Amino acid sequence: MSASPPSGSDAVPSGIDLARAWRLVLEATRVLPAEVVSIREALGRVLAEPVVAGRTLPPANASAMDGYAVRSTDVAGDGPVELAVAFEVAAGGSAPRPLGRGEAARIFTGAPLPEGADAVVRQEDAVRVGDRVRVEGPVPPGRDVRPAGEDVKEGDRVLDPGTRLLPAHVGFLASLGRTLVSVRRRPRVAIVSGGDELVEPDGDVSGGRIASSNSYSLHAQCLEVGAEPSYLGIARDTPEELEARLADGLAADVLVSSAGVSVGDRDFVRPVLEKLGCRICFHGVKLKPGYPVVFGRLPPPGPLVFGLPGNPVSAMVTFECLVRPALLRMQGVSRCFRPVVRAELSHDLEKRAGRLHLVRVQLDRGASGILATATGNQSSGVLRSMTLAQGLLLVPAEVTRIRKGEQALVWVIDPDFLAETGPAA
Ligand code: AMP
Ligand code: MG
Repeated sequence: MSASPPSGSDAVPSGIDLARAWRLVLEATRVLPAEVVSIREALGRVLAEPVVAGRTLPPANASAMDGYAVRSTDVAGDGPVELAVAFEVAAGGSAPRPLGRGEAARIFTGAPLPEGADAVVRQEDAVRVGDRVRVEGPVPPGRDVRPAGEDVKEGDRVLDPGTRLLPAHVGFLASLGRTLVSVRRRPRVAIVSGGDELVEPDGDVSGGRIASSNSYSLHAQCLEVGAEPSYLGIARDTPEELEARLADGLAADVLVSSAGVSVGDRDFVRPVLEKLGCRICFHGVKLKPGYPVVFGRLPPPGPLVFGLPGNPVSAMVTFECLVRPALLRMQGVSRCFRPVVRAELSHDLEKRAGRLHLVRVQLDRGASGILATATGNQSSGVLRSMTLAQGLLLVPAEVTRIRKGEQALVWVIDPDFLAETGPAA
């Protein structure tokens, strides 16, 4: 313990665990304002309003089948009954008059039941003879009728804010007469890459240059989570150029940079952010890969700022751990984290104590559950092992070994992991 009070950058938490980092990030994260979009554009967006049904569905008792509408009291007994076919009601039409005793109405799926009718006899259960129809009793009231309000009643609260809109929600909104819906604005994310060695993917890679893959993986990670990325390019390793690029991102909701956050002579991201007025909330999370990650914020309405490490896997994993939950929270989603499964290790795993390891694993479903296998070289520069990963297996900070056959928790990062290769039915 230091005898003198911490001051300046000494006060910035460092070497914190992931749970504390989450707390600090989510505490700083605000839900974004709402905007109104067409329901055609609403898939995947997060509802910002409670939806109250403005109409009853179905609006009237309707036939669920093609057949004959009847009065159930006419066909209450066992055995066949002959009824007079009085008129016809098509979907979208209406009955010319109430159905009388001893009468049936030819009716089609979705058509409103005539007054007096309370059941439908399917066409295949009826025998039409001229203008009469023979049906087999008994027919209970309500058979093959969709009662008015079976789906919703006017005034019912049918959808809650925070719902991520799936195809069924979109169709449901349409059935309620809603063409527009209020959803949370997509978070705008500015992405900056830094490094003298970096070029665009089609650039010249002679002389030790490499393609700036982070610019693209982070962009894709933003899109995947419903955010709106804008790419501000590559900053050379000078404080001036870095400052200019980062300053361009200050109008965004979130500013994400990669590289330049470790202890190298050219790691300028943190001092430049501080110069731009960013308050650093932490620098260093006990994670592998991804330890040097920086998080801070500009005073409102400025952005949240994530300085991710430069190694391609570290950048992606720290985005997964910290940026992704924030972007979901901004959209008003309550479930901000990846699904977690318990998996059995297919081999021994060893590590040093001190950091939470996120091991890239392939997942296989076997008879006894899910099997996890590391996807090869776990170096933080090996992006290929990330392309093969369906999950990130968590080895807690103090654990030094998990043996083959033992269980561990895995974040599922590939939603297709749950898909089947053939029809299961
Ligand atoms: P740095 O944090 O600048 O020391 O970078 C760490 C490592 O990540 C170095 O090997 C960099 O070349 C690499 N790196 C940094 N930025 C990128 C990027 N945008 N795309 C791919 N690799 C990167
Ligand atoms: Mg660098």
